[in-house]
Amino acid sequence: MSLDDLPVRDDLRGKKPYGAPQVHVPIQLNVNENTHPVPAAVADDISAAIRGALDGINRYPDREFTELREALAGYVGGGVTAENIWAANGSNEVLQQILQAFGGPGRTLLAFPPTYSMYPLLAEGTGTGYVTAERGPEFAVTAEIAVAAIREHRPDIVVFCAPNNPTGTALPLEAITATYDAFDGIVIVDEAYHEFMPDSESRATTLLDGRPRLLISRTMSKAFAFAGARVGYLVAHPDAIDALRLVRLPYHLSALTQVAATTALKHAPTMLAMVDDIRQQRDRLVVELANLGFTPHASQTNFVLFGGVDDPHTLFEALLAEGIIIRDVGIPHHLRVTAGTETETTAFLDALGRIVAR
Ligand SMILES: *Cc1c(COP(=O)(O)O)cnc(C)c1O
Repeated sequence: MSLDDLPVRDDLRGKKPYGAPQVHVPIQLNVNENTHPVPAAVADDISAAIRGALDGINRYPDREFTELREALAGYVGGGVTAENIWAANGSNEVLQQILQAFGGPGRTLLAFPPTYSMYPLLAEGTGTGYVTAERGPEFAVTAEIAVAAIREHRPDIVVFCAPNNPTGTALPLEAITATYDAFDGIVIVDEAYHEFMPDSESRATTLLDGRPRLLISRTMSKAFAFAGARVGYLVAHPDAIDALRLVRLPYHLSALTQVAATTALKHAPTMLAMVDDIRQQRDRLVVELANLGFTPHASQTNFVLFGGVDDPHTLFEALLAEGIIIRDVGIPHHLRVTAGTETETTAFLDALGRIVAR
């Protein structure tokens, strides 16, 4: 007996579950987590809040997670209110709900690879067609590239990852506005890494006014050091959020998740204190990788994609033997490394230097 003997959906037959390897080595720089733990004082406050929520855990949670939406609206700022906010168990679930509401059989999602590996999988799981267009030099997507891709593919939904995983590339806001104007479909901007962008650069949230088809997804998994709690959210027009209410499971966000996230948001400055440090380690990686003879790509995220790797598999394994895991994202002659703490980043660069010298 095996999975293939069960009557699974035809389009899922022969597929393997997706997931980055979860290998427990001392230095984990493979999935762009914030490698700084949540500060103890914040953890204590979250414990107390969870203890409080346990008193009512026999009841279903607030289906509308109102307090969390208010806390997220405050964190996003810029005039955004709770009506503009939605949340789910990670932004992956938010993206899935968007495809359930706006995609599905007979509809297509357009993306610009190399980009987030979950987009084709979320399309597949929701029966949405997946079409792609090439990026320009240095992995950039310009307004011209995006508009030409819309003319060619006539998608129902376009997803931009901004800045892009796994390349770190920034996205000009003109690409978003030109795309929005070029068709009548949904424009998703996945801003999972926006806290790592230069503070001076405008986020897609500044474009929301008058654009009800623009959906901006964000997460507490990266800058906010909250990957294990599973909290992602959406910033959009209230009507777009109503569409997600049609497909969400009732009570999809547990009472424990809601209080944990609401409490963490009260400590936003403490939770985000490490962002500057991480940006420094990222910039250091770019400089030092070039010194070691690699070709790092410019990054506005907490990771760096670097080329000039003769054999990514061999280098990946050599680092693993040193207790360091990074990521082979399948781009020929490239690997991706997350910016860790200063100590972790130093350990990675030192190990890489030794391997290169051999
Ligand atoms: C890490 C990441 C996410 C976050 O997913 P969660 O489900 O919120 O943990 C979303 N989009 C991109 C591009 C990412 O790299």
